[in-house]
Amino acid sequence: MSLSTLVACLECDLLHRRIQLPPGGEARCVRCRALLYRATSPNANERALALALAAGIVMIVANVFPIVDLELQGVHNSATLWEAVRSMWDDKARAVAVLVFVTTIFVPLAELVGLIWVLAALRSGIRGYGTVPILHFIERVKPWGMVEVFMLGVLVSLVKLAHVASIEPGAALLSFAVLMMLIAAAAAAFDADAAWEQLEATL
Ligand SMILES: [Zn+2]
Repeated sequence: MSLSTLVACLECDLLHRRIQLPPGGEARCVRCRALLYRATSPNANERALALALAAGIVMIVANVFPIVDLELQGVHNSATLWEAVRSMWDDKARAVAVLVFVTTIFVPLAELVGLIWVLAALRSGIRGYGTVPILHFIERVKPWGMVEVFMLGVLVSLVKLAHVASIEPGAALLSFAVLMMLIAAAAAAFDADAAWEQLEATL
């Protein structure tokens, strides 16, 4: 019997033997009724791949175009996310610059590229290079992707600045809103259990 046929309850550690579930079904612990796993939908990871690809395209738009156009006393200013990070770095707000870079550029990008790499490999039935460490990496960095926190921060500052400057939202602002939803949708669609199972089959 392979280890993958056993599943431990996350709440009480009781071991169960994995069974085939009907579509839409879910397995619960016999002792504490905690959710063990759900029936894997055959095309959940295809949907996750499509959403991740869409998020990748939107992410390019979000990083190429300015977030906002600001006009204050005749001085016109606009910046992309990268330019904003650079100017924070130059203004000696280095900790904030690093934090913004990691949570809104590096982690979402790494998560998306990793997810696309793994899902594309699984879809074509091959064992892509570094698939297992990448899957572990995605799980580990996920909590550090904070596009939604950034989005909230930008909106709060825009509302505050609206009294003193004339503000026009840039294309990137809308793209970040869409990106936020696409990343969440891709992460929700991604069936890690099915991916691990499929990976084991290609071993
Ligand atoms: Zn249990």
